[in-house]
Amino acid sequence: EPPKPSNFLRQVIEKDLEQGTYAQRMWGGSPGDAAHHQAGRSDPARIRTRFPPEPNGYLHVGHAKSICLNFGLAGDYGGVCHMRFDDTNPEKEDQEFVDGILDAVKWLGFGWDANGTEHLYHASDYFDFMYRAAEYLIEAGLAYVDEQSPEDMRHNRGDFSKPGTDSPFRSRSIDENLTRFREMRDGKLADGAAVLRARIDMASPNINMRDPAIYRIRRATHHRTGDKWCIYPMYTYAHPIEDALENITHSLCTLEFEDQRPFYDWLLDRLSEGGLINKPHPRQYEFARLNLTYVITSKRKLKQLVDEGHVSGWDDPRMNTIVGLRRRGYTPESLRLFAERIGVTKSDSWIDYSTLEGALRDDLDPKVARAMAVLEPVKLVITNWDALMGAGFQDVCSAPINPRDPASGKREFKFGKELWIEKTDYEEAPPKGYNRLFPGNKVRLKYGHVITCTGATKDAAGNVTEVQAELIPDTKSGTPGSDAVKVKGVITWVGAADAVQAEVRLYDRLFAVAQPDTTDKDFLEEINPDSLKVVTAYVEPALAQAKADDRFQFERHGYFVADRKNHGVGHVVFNKITGMKDSFAK
Ligand code: ATP
Ligand code: MG
Ligand code: MG
Repeated sequence: EPPKPSNFLRQVIEKDLEQGTYAQRMWGGSPGDAAHHQAGRSDPARIRTRFPPEPNGYLHVGHAKSICLNFGLAGDYGGVCHMRFDDTNPEKEDQEFVDGILDAVKWLGFGWDANGTEHLYHASDYFDFMYRAAEYLIEAGLAYVDEQSPEDMRHNRGDFSKPGTDSPFRSRSIDENLTRFREMRDGKLADGAAVLRARIDMASPNINMRDPAIYRIRRATHHRTGDKWCIYPMYTYAHPIEDALENITHSLCTLEFEDQRPFYDWLLDRLSEGGLINKPHPRQYEFARLNLTYVITSKRKLKQLVDEGHVSGWDDPRMNTIVGLRRRGYTPESLRLFAERIGVTKSDSWIDYSTLEGALRDDLDPKVARAMAVLEPVKLVITNWDALMGAGFQDVCSAPINPRDPASGKREFKFGKELWIEKTDYEEAPPKGYNRLFPGNKVRLKYGHVITCTGATKDAAGNVTEVQAELIPDTKSGTPGSDAVKVKGVITWVGAADAVQAEVRLYDRLFAVAQPDTTDKDFLEEINPDSLKVVTAYVEPALAQAKADDRFQFERHGYFVADRKNHGVGHVVFNKITGMKDSFAK
């Protein structure tokens, strides 16, 4: 394996390891250590990262980048990556999403068992601690209950051009704040009637430091804590605490959170001053999120596509969710290869969709079986077959299962009087440079014989319904002298006698524009109306035995997978994963 290319995160980690930044507390073993106390987990690790999704939807390709990054770095440096649910927003969260997320991470090839310990965490397990920490902040004069209206609060926060204005509630006494906060907790105040705010600096040039809200009132049933709480911590408050309690060393997040870092550090500094958490603190590092052309990476909008029926579900093969990509035929290896190729940087950019497809092709090309398939079939009749071969005779042809893998063996299929070929392989009046079938032209049927096209039959509307040709004897592929007749064109085919009918789903990009959801336009208007075409195809006989999730390269056409939901005995269903070549190239 070639060494992995360095990046700014690897440099940070290597420096921390060299300097022993976290050596003191890597196993959370010091007495009174909150994480040790909290979770009783005490396993050695050189670094700790975490993957902290909110269970409010299924994961998408952007999350795959984050998963590969966090689990990958922990693996590379003898560390542990925590699988953590950031479940602080009960209205939007659901057990279905929790299960889906765990499934996606496992499928990608990562796990959260390390050194005999399961590293699966839930932010909601820390609600008691978070509450105590909030009371501590109040007692230290560092937080207050604000009962301004949301409009006043927004207005008084100010903006980039002017400092904020203190809330009239900012100077409340500690006792009054404590009482009021407990009343919030005890359900004495209505939803939205008050928030707890950190008391920092209303004039800070960083708006996030102008007394950010850290607790809100929300009567919502939590999928794990039920109705125990009617106040919930805000993400910006919860996240640093989660990291600190779990002894995370390197907390990696996307660039949007850069402006939150001062609060992350402020909070952890205050909490360690109060003896609630230990030092050294986790540190937050920001990397560029994945923006992939032709897709959207927002769980909320992906959910909208599902809820409004624009796609068949989270696992619709056009969705760039991990379940969608999986059903489309992407492999875990291809997604990991993709993540490695795009790397991590500190500035946002768009990754071309072809990079994802390229990773898929590079993964599948050496390992999948080949097959012939005719996606737009028209009958080809060999008019001299009976005379040459005898009526009803079927000649057996063979081809390597995978020419890249000599050990893969051979596949067999029959060549007879009637075959299926692609409609596009016949032209009555061929354009310049066309080497396939037209009257008088010779073509090789791949792995079979050379034929001379003699003509075609058309229906009343002028559509070709049958193509005719004559077989040239002694030209069968692989037999001595078979190349004596020179041809410019080789076409794929399947025998009418043994071909298997298949439903083939041809997918195109779900969005018609390269950077969807980046303008004022409603992203739904950017949906490609022709993203799915279903055809009845004929495929090689061996494919009747394909199992769900089996992948193939259909010669000339690209990569296909037996649909994991609908394919089965008697109903052969393939999804097109991607073409042979880059179709997204400009
Ligand atoms: P969404 O807005 O789509 O719900 P999110 O960032 O809120 O996404 P989380 O569930 O909070 O989703 O994300 C879990 C982790 O995945 C976070 O650490 C986040 O930084 C990371 N992540 C989310 N989207 C991307 C992306 N497009 N590229 C890289 N990492 C991402
Ligand atoms: Mg989030
Ligand atoms: Mg988000």
